Amino acid sequence: MTTTFTLSRRAQALTSSAIREILKVTERPEVISFAGGLPSPATFPVERMREATEKVLREAPQAALQYGPTEGFSPLREWIAERLSRGGARIPASRVLVTTGSQQGLDLLGKVLIDEGSKVLVETPSYLGALQAFSLFSPQFASLPSDAQGIVTDAISPEQMAGARFLYCLPNFQNPTGRRMPLERRKALVELAARAGVPLVEDDPYGELSYGGEALPSLLSMNPDGVIYMGSFSKVLAPGLRLGYVVAPEQVLAKLVQAKQAADLHTPTFSQRVVYEAVQDGFLDRHIPTIRALYGTQCQHMLAALEREFPEEVTWNRPEGGMFIWVQLPKGLDSGKLLAKAVERNVAFVPGAPFYAVDPQTNTLRLSFVTVPGEKIDAGIKVLGELLKAEIAA
Ligand code: PMP
Repeated sequence: MTTTFTLSRRAQALTSSAIREILKVTERPEVISFAGGLPSPATFPVERMREATEKVLREAPQAALQYGPTEGFSPLREWIAERLSRGGARIPASRVLVTTGSQQGLDLLGKVLIDEGSKVLVETPSYLGALQAFSLFSPQFASLPSDAQGIVTDAISPEQMAGARFLYCLPNFQNPTGRRMPLERRKALVELAARAGVPLVEDDPYGELSYGGEALPSLLSMNPDGVIYMGSFSKVLAPGLRLGYVVAPEQVLAKLVQAKQAADLHTPTFSQRVVYEAVQDGFLDRHIPTIRALYGTQCQHMLAALEREFPEEVTWNRPEGGMFIWVQLPKGLDSGKLLAKAVERNVAFVPGAPFYAVDPQTNTLRLSFVTVPGEKIDAGIKVLGELLKAEIAA
């Protein structure tokens, strides 16, 4: 008898990420890709990681290669707690769970906080990877009104908040839009959520990548008992390390720890020890400014190219940090169709529609400016400008 693999309903509902499908095409070397969400490899501190690895293997080889506690390597948890405490509110290390990338944090949160049909509030648009992670647990998404400054707190009614398991938001240089939430909105959001008794989930991998503007306080620092915070070493050190963290009030953290134990026992001891060794003397404070400088220059380069090449009917934001620019096409234009034409001419980007939990806006797209060198930014944006002009004229 042939073996039957009956997939779970959950697995049957899984679909491949639109971004992953596109990335397959963009692996061809001739393609100028603004599609990926990858940090620039030029920022990876290779020498520092080599030294840290050697030191760990020299000084604590057995411990570094052994299983470890699910919560994470204690000195690293302490280091994370201390760094986050710079934001004003004291964060104890007992609230920190080290995860295998912050993407795992999203999955664990889904497992711990979402039942089938649970209301989950998200921005419009929101991080695709979070929508995918939460979708596995079949929530009912509600998409909150958002503008160029993030969630429009004034436009949210108490009914919209009522009964939500959490509100997932990205206040700093959001993926996909690159937008940042101003201080007044942050305060209003924290107050709104606290009044409604709804936890905030703050996803913050880009918080330290500001191009010069002042850092704004995290939602976590404004209300540590009402916020679950997620951070990552992916954008400030290297994503291949797969190292992130979740900060949560103790009773939620305990459940996340149990869920993580079932998922992978713990985050790789080796990565944790190497990263701790690499960052413990303040290295990130010296390293991050070099990332900011590079990304800031790249961003200006792309903005200048957009200004030069894109027709006036198309608009975009001017990010103050992060890795992305968000483009709005005139209503009626479909960025998915544009992508097909762009790929024929060896240029790629990510269509905006998959970033919407409900009511996808097909006239939007995301451009990453961090990995493509200046002259290729010019060439790629020129192609997109030509295609857009032809579309608009048609
Ligand atoms: N959250 C956001 C908003 C992201 O953009 C990403 C990575 N693209 C992640 C979480 C996951 O990052 P990691 O798992 O590498 O920490």
